[in-house]
Amino acid sequence: MHTSPHPTNQLFPLPGHVTPGRPLILVSGCLLGEAVRYDGGDKSLGPLREVLQGELQLRSVCPEVYAGMGTPRPPVQWVELASGERQLLQVDNPDISAREQLQAGCRNWCDNWQGEAPMAALLKARSPSCGNGTTPLLNEAGKQQGTMDGAFVQQLKRRWPQLWIVDESAVETEADALWLCRLLQWRQWQGATDVLLPSLLALTGEERRAWWRKQMASLAPPQ
Ligand code: SF4
Repeated sequence: MHTSPHPTNQLFPLPGHVTPGRPLILVSGCLLGEAVRYDGGDKSLGPLREVLQGELQLRSVCPEVYAGMGTPRPPVQWVELASGERQLLQVDNPDISAREQLQAGCRNWCDNWQGEAPMAALLKARSPSCGNGTTPLLNEAGKQQGTMDGAFVQQLKRRWPQLWIVDESAVETEADALWLCRLLQWRQWQGATDVLLPSLLALTGEERRAWWRKQMASLAPPQ
């Protein structure tokens, strides 16, 4: 039986007859402190990583490394050409495109996945690969004209349309991280695939606790 080493149960208590599972979640490797960014650095979540590790199964992934782009590597950005085509061009040398390489890597990673499907993904915002609707899209003059899904997120949505995808803004505090863990555990035992995660993440502290109490009250103990 899994016993929680973190104070999730004080913030979001569970009835005695409920044991939380450990949902499987994909996490950008750089958020887990791995030195895989284009500049050889990371974007570690710091101590929050341990909160997540205590409640979930974390599967690290860096799609750009998987695609063979190397670390460090030249930074790239999405550019919409005058023709309407979207290209992934090197920032310092826009004659070089990494689109085919990255797209193929992301597609292969998703298609080669085996075993239990992940329930969620916690991915780095604004990345050309990992951004979920937050990746900058520039025009040929270098001006941002919108945002889009990164190459990896596009493939994740194709492979698992029900996947919950969040970025690091969802886990800015320990309470946020615990809330995300509990929502994933709740989704796992309820099979609640049609619930919109953003509306739950947007709840404030007391609203979260009230929502949680209501859900727990509806869980009848076994006869
Ligand atoms: S591709 Fe994703 S995991 Fe890899 S460094 Fe960029 S944001 Fe992090």
